[in-house]
Amino acid sequence: MIDQYGLDYKMLGISGAERLAPDRLTIFTWPDPHLSEKTIDVTVFDGYLKNTIANMVYTMLQNNGLGLAGPQVGFMQNVVIINKEFNGDYFPMVLINPKIEEISFKESFPMREGCLSVPGYFEDRERPSGVIVSYYNTKGKETIEEFRNQNAFVIQHEIDHLHGKVFVDHLSKLKLKRIIKKTLKKKH
Ligand SMILES: [Zn+2]
Repeated sequence: MIDQYGLDYKMLGISGAERLAPDRLTIFTWPDPHLSEKTIDVTVFDGYLKNTIANMVYTMLQNNGLGLAGPQVGFMQNVVIINKEFNGDYFPMVLINPKIEEISFKESFPMREGCLSVPGYFEDRERPSGVIVSYYNTKGKETIEEFRNQNAFVIQHEIDHLHGKVFVDHLSKLKLKRIIKKTLKKKH
């Protein structure tokens, strides 16, 4: 059941009693220092965490993103949201304390890489097309799952965020600042 905010609370593991209207969070844009910091593992699976996750999912959907990681909204814990592709449809999914256990398919999957924290900049990039990831759900239960192709690509991008890495780190700050400034100006 998806509510008026596009959130499927059952799938997110959030019970009815914990529902709140989600907030659209501010996404920090590169080079905000949050984006180059490493995050820590989630140890408390409480209502605050679930509420933060609901806000992150809502924020990702509102911005038409394929993924969002904690540091992008200043939540410095190991949480990533992806908009998981399945047979042409998309479903928000949360991965807590995600860890790539194994590259299961080394063949490259090409994609135009972009990021909500680097508005207006895209780069053709290849990443391994299969990864096995361990993660916790919102109830604190650990699972291991394989992700392929686009989902594998997006998860690798989001997990990089948890390590303080952004896909544009190799570009000059000056060039990127100009691009972002231009894009943000157009929006307003
Ligand atoms: Zn990103």
